[in-house]
Amino acid sequence: MSGGLADLTLADVTRLEDIVDKGALTEVCRSFFDLFSLPIRVFSNDGALLADVHETREICRYVNTLSEGRRACSTRVTEVKALAPRGGAVEHPCFTGAVYRVVPIAYQGRMLGRFVVGPYFPAETREVPRSLLVLDPALDREAARSALAEMPRVREETAERIADHLTRILDLIIFSGHRAFLTSEMHVASVRESFRELTEKNEQLQEAFDKLQELDRLKSNFLATVSHELRTPLTSIIGYSDMLATGIAGELNEEQAEFVETIRGKGDHLLALISSLLDLGKLEQGKLRVKREPMNVELLVAEVAKTLAPLAQKRDVSIRVEVDGGLPDISADAVRIRQVLYNLTENAVKFSPDGDAVTLGARLVELEADDDDDMGFVLMAGTRSAVELSVSDRGPGIPTDEQERVFDAFYQVDGSSTREHGGTGLGLSIVKRLVEAHGGSVWVESVVGEGATFRFTIPEADDA
Ligand code: ADP
Repeated sequence: MSGGLADLTLADVTRLEDIVDKGALTEVCRSFFDLFSLPIRVFSNDGALLADVHETREICRYVNTLSEGRRACSTRVTEVKALAPRGGAVEHPCFTGAVYRVVPIAYQGRMLGRFVVGPYFPAETREVPRSLLVLDPALDREAARSALAEMPRVREETAERIADHLTRILDLIIFSGHRAFLTSEMHVASVRESFRELTEKNEQLQEAFDKLQELDRLKSNFLATVSHELRTPLTSIIGYSDMLATGIAGELNEEQAEFVETIRGKGDHLLALISSLLDLGKLEQGKLRVKREPMNVELLVAEVAKTLAPLAQKRDVSIRVEVDGGLPDISADAVRIRQVLYNLTENAVKFSPDGDAVTLGARLVELEADDDDDMGFVLMAGTRSAVELSVSDRGPGIPTDEQERVFDAFYQVDGSSTREHGGTGLGLSIVKRLVEAHGGSVWVESVVGEGATFRFTIPEADDA
């Protein structure tokens, strides 16, 4: 920022037209013309005409009817235009006896242009000058004399005072114009600077985003490889502990059986975790395909309730089923949807107080059809039927600000009451990806201390 402002204060103002408005200049010249009947023209440094207020005088009109006169006149005008006095005002005589007064316009010691007052006739001159009389053999002396008579007559010192006055007014206009110019330049500079900063930040963000994406990809690859490598030896551990438990390698005493059972249990747990990691990896890479077929919801719910009944019984938790009658089949991959409902129900059992109940529900709902056409014709957008499945418990619940985050991989609500339940933080992220792969959505409704209800929708089968 400082660089930009420093440049500005040193900014060279060399063009009059950059800092004063041509209209304002013309207005000032006009008021002088109205007061003194003196033509005034303002030129920039490079000779561009910025303001011009004049009236063609009779003498000029007459001279221009003569061929020599026209030539002489245009030479004179060119000479006046070319005059660029630096030290102070100069007078330039015309062959008609009239005079042009050329005054420099300077600001802060720098030449910005000049203004020309005239032609006017010096009041001191009494005679028609010889230069006019000998101009053209066809000149009519009487006509020239009477034309000259109506030329404004100005005394030398009056002309000087008028020019001084105009100089002072121009100074003021230039000063305020310069101030406005600096202000607007500063504004432009600060906007440009903010834009530059924003662009820079954007680039940094993009870089960070790219790096994160790359890291995410590496993490997924790493997880997939490690999980895969872990699964093989783990299957052996489970297999051998199974064999030990069945007594193939000899009878086990009670303590040995208990140890082997623990190895087996932990092995199963680890295998479930590794399978989840592999699933997540596949889902992230879009490699997991869902094979959708019509599927009966009532059977699905009953099956999951039955599978989890032993786990629930251990904690004296009952699983209630409240499925509406007459539900259509859903279009789903049976294995994957079972996994979704199983994960949610397992969580609900896990987080339920001992002796409490978990409720599995299903009902028909209408979804607003996704319309690719983004024209906003809401009235025309169709609806499609889906089945909404729900899993409710009366456990600790999930705070509102964490209700979306629980679906992130490895996210666990940070509280001793839930952490004590172990887990990996992967289940819900897999649930979310699987539900979305089916074209449905999943969310949680919860009040802390009162419990949680997870709901997800799966579209009904086409031929339902
Ligand atoms: P995990 O249960 O293995 O930790 P999940 O992805 O299934 O992983 O769940 C993520 C987190 O969401 C859990 O650790 C827990 O904090 C919270 N959570 C999930 N289900 C429930 C529930 N029914 N009641 C309360 N909290 C829950």
